[in-house]
Amino acid sequence: MRLPHLLSVCLLLSTSFLFAQSAADPEPGPGFSIDNIDKSLDPCVDFYQYACGNWIKNSEIPADRPAWQSFAQLDESNMEIERKILETAAAGGAERSAVDQKIGDMYGSCMDEKRVNAEGITPLKPELARIAAVKDKSALINEIARLHLVGANALFNFYSNSDLHNADAVIASIDQGGLSLPDRDYYVKDDPDKVEMRKHLAEYATELFKLAGQTPQRAAQSADDVLVVETLLAADSMDRTKRRDPKNRDHKMTREDAAALAPEFYLNQYFVAVGAPNFTEINVGNPEFFRQVNGVLAALPLETLKTYATWHLLNSSAPWLSEPFVEANFKLRQALTGQKEIQDRWKRCVHLVDHSLGEALGQRYVEATFGPDEKQRMLKMVDALEQSLDQDIQGLEWMSADTKKQAKVKLEAIRNKIGYPEQWRDYSSVVIKPHDLLGNVQRADEFESKREIAKIGKPLDRKEWGMTPPTVNAYYSPNYNEIVFPAGILQPPFFDKNMDDAVNFGGIGIVIGHELTHGFDDQGRKFDPQGNLRDWWTEQDGKEFEKRVSCVADEYSGFSVVDNMKLNGRLTLGENTADNGGARIALAALERLIAEDKTGKEGESIDGYTPEQRFFLGFARVWCEKQRPEFLRMQVSTNPHSPGRYRVNGVVENMPEFQKAWGCKPGQPMVAENACRVW
Ligand SMILES: [Zn+2]
Repeated sequence: MRLPHLLSVCLLLSTSFLFAQSAADPEPGPGFSIDNIDKSLDPCVDFYQYACGNWIKNSEIPADRPAWQSFAQLDESNMEIERKILETAAAGGAERSAVDQKIGDMYGSCMDEKRVNAEGITPLKPELARIAAVKDKSALINEIARLHLVGANALFNFYSNSDLHNADAVIASIDQGGLSLPDRDYYVKDDPDKVEMRKHLAEYATELFKLAGQTPQRAAQSADDVLVVETLLAADSMDRTKRRDPKNRDHKMTREDAAALAPEFYLNQYFVAVGAPNFTEINVGNPEFFRQVNGVLAALPLETLKTYATWHLLNSSAPWLSEPFVEANFKLRQALTGQKEIQDRWKRCVHLVDHSLGEALGQRYVEATFGPDEKQRMLKMVDALEQSLDQDIQGLEWMSADTKKQAKVKLEAIRNKIGYPEQWRDYSSVVIKPHDLLGNVQRADEFESKREIAKIGKPLDRKEWGMTPPTVNAYYSPNYNEIVFPAGILQPPFFDKNMDDAVNFGGIGIVIGHELTHGFDDQGRKFDPQGNLRDWWTEQDGKEFEKRVSCVADEYSGFSVVDNMKLNGRLTLGENTADNGGARIALAALERLIAEDKTGKEGESIDGYTPEQRFFLGFARVWCEKQRPEFLRMQVSTNPHSPGRYRVNGVVENMPEFQKAWGCKPGQPMVAENACRVW
């Protein structure tokens, strides 16, 4: 479960695959500095390399990270803050507040590695026994429901979401799912990296089944069974690029029709087992998946399906069991990302608390880090960026007056959330014990799953947040029609109160512009101001839009990232369009600020760079990064965001403003022959 705001688009990563690492020290700090520039290079040849060259030279990917960039650097420093909060909360006695008891004991139970190791697989035994006792396929669906409640992604996904055609109402949704590797392509494609990951998955599964008590031979057979089932699920899953179009996931039907679509899923029984409130309508994200997998479920022996369910229990629990489980789990992650070492336990435990009790930990994090000044400055920048986007849209030559009018209504309806939620989630019903790690994890997951499910049939809670406050990221949600900036991202290099406006507009300004533009990208434009899937464009304007984004798709499809793997311009289209639009409107906002400044201070050069140059340097600084090749391969296959180098160069080569700021000439690499422009 745990799929909040399924349609949200964020700034960095959509999965939790990319977390944590640790800092190596005398390296460049996360802030903006002209020391990061490699002045021996020509900015018009490769701007990213020019702006980040020295940063790249002087930075090392920490052994416990798959990649290293400003997001990761900030994540490291946030983890240090959270660690102090959690250690204090864990040590506190009877005087502790209810919030500190929860986060402190969750962290404490996680840090008690000795006890966890001594217990081995024991804490999981009751759950394993439940699956082992299953006598028929209809009883199995009750166990799938149980797995869903405790956070395991088996067979399919069930969650609540705002109704695509009535955003104010929350409805039940089921969708494809049930895979252990990051994407369906890992099962159905024969690229060398995909074939290799299947082998790694088989090895990992074999190891877990052995640790669970199976003989080596039996364990290998069980792993084969897992691969067989997951490959069948993958074959019937829609690919990521196709899923970008919300129309492909828009299949509302009655509960009875959904149940009849795939009788082998025993959906009516499942809804009761999972504790869903009564409902009559449901959105089926991918009906073909359920239709086809229905046949798979009918054909496969019960024992194979029980093995598959057991696997998902083992896999999702492994990080919170004894060392051999943790190591086996890390080995797959290592194969996928190239990360050399597992993170220190305290970091994994910080992430666990952020994941499971995020708004309790977030409350303490905000008290320690976030003041009203930051919020005020952000609000001012958001205003400036909204004004820029409005002016940009109103000035478009290719858009008709009718569509412009509608776009203005949508833009004005975009809400913003900055820092932290105005209302904190109430975790008082979650039981967290000082010495029961797996139990704590399961109860917290169950609380969250039930909270999600209980929303079905209720009005949409527009106050809710989809990210926790320490998160270094931001998002736009089309059904909420809102932009959200957690406190975690409002720090250098994104936002630095000691820096000039030019650098900040290149940092957080572009981020704000990026999120705003998402409301009008290939996905966002299909939603109206209320968050309903509704076409408000004239046909001609829609065509003009498509023509312009095709240019962007072709541009990025031309970028070769690793071992001749090219970017998927259609998968990354929304993000690339948002990067291009964000940069353009942030620069326009800065230019306005300079023009309106009577003191002339805004227009002054600093360290020999004009405000426009500093704007682009600030932009590049945010994206300076190093990635392990394994991680890049996974990113290209699964991530709708382009790697940093292309997020920078792919944008600036389209911008005459950039070329003017740096004196670039036609024919140079940073001057695109066919510059793309949507916004
Ligand atoms: Zn984005």
